[in-house]
Amino acid sequence: MSNGSDGPNGRKRVALVAHDQMKDTMVEWAKSHKTALSTMKLFGTGTTGGRIADEVGLSITRLKSGPLGGDAQIGAMIAEGKLDTLIFFIDPLSALPHDVDVKSLLRLATLYNTVLAINEATASKVISEV
Ligand code: PGA
Repeated sequence: MSNGSDGPNGRKRVALVAHDQMKDTMVEWAKSHKTALSTMKLFGTGTTGGRIADEVGLSITRLKSGPLGGDAQIGAMIAEGKLDTLIFFIDPLSALPHDVDVKSLLRLATLYNTVLAINEATASKVISEV
């Protein structure tokens, strides 16, 4: 299954999600790729999206915080063909109380063949190609 189409106006629809210990990394990464990201339609979970808006200065649609349903909202966008790319900086060192949401989101991104990056190196390559 694949949804690999662009949004209605041709802008790539990209979701940004970072776990707490990875949010600084996400902010610095977004600063480094601000020009490319500014051409895309951005979505973010609540806290990640707030930091991207405030500290990077990018326009981003904020969903609910990840553990409060934001991860599920992004999963629903994937299932409905409304998202092209997911940049998901998962904390590799901490146990996450909402691990079920992480698994669900990764499962849907896999099922729908969504472009998915879970670390900086891959995210940088993905963003340079979209
Ligand atoms: P947050 O959600 O950006 O609202 O912190 C991220 C997550 O933990 O899924």
